[in-house]
Amino acid sequence: VKLDYEKQIDSVIISELNSYLQDRSPQEILSWAWSTFGYQVVASSSFQTQSVPLLHMIGNTTPQLPVIFLDTGFHFSETLQFRDVLQQQFGLNILNVQPELNPQQLAKEHGEKLYDRNPSLCCHLNKVEPMKQAVKGLRAWITGVRADQTARRRQLNVIELQEDGLIKIHPLLNWTKKDVWEYVDEHRLPAHPLLEKGYVSVGCAPCTRPVFAGENERAGRWRNMAKTECGLHT
Ligand code: SF4
Repeated sequence: VKLDYEKQIDSVIISELNSYLQDRSPQEILSWAWSTFGYQVVASSSFQTQSVPLLHMIGNTTPQLPVIFLDTGFHFSETLQFRDVLQQQFGLNILNVQPELNPQQLAKEHGEKLYDRNPSLCCHLNKVEPMKQAVKGLRAWITGVRADQTARRRQLNVIELQEDGLIKIHPLLNWTKKDVWEYVDEHRLPAHPLLEKGYVSVGCAPCTRPVFAGENERAGRWRNMAKTECGLHT
């Protein structure tokens, strides 16, 4: 399915694309996205263990595809090291995107520990807004979102059209947690160093806790808060 660039992308076209892509493999979806959009598409990744299969596929199928890492200034040092290891190992084209204010400037302007007092504002300033700037003028954005992660994500389609016209692509949407681990095992891929300490899903350090047996993999994110998403995918 080829996109006609002259044509306005509407819900009918998105629905046709979903019919075409929903049963394709993540690698096929990546190849389709790259051949359709070229440098008008980017991927984003949080560089945790669950991100590794998609990053491995990008390295193998579309290595030029820019992969955005939102360097909020609040990451674990292990995440930054893991990002560098994966860049080397998979030959990734990583773009580190930083917010307008670094953590010191943020504290000066909004007070200490904004992540505790107003995590939505903190995520907006450190993730949502920088990402918005990074994808400005582009056609499409590839994410590592899976339907089995949260109730909200279950409602997504492989291809989504945002109100601002940006096309969101979720190649792993129909993968399960089991698929991720099988892929990691099969290809003997590295795991985030904090995984062995119980950090199944890793985000910014102040908002990530280990997960206990039987809990949802994202239970350690914003623990004891109603928040489940940073706002990038909602
Ligand atoms: S995850 Fe936490 S520290 Fe990171 S941007 Fe969101 S609220 Fe701030």
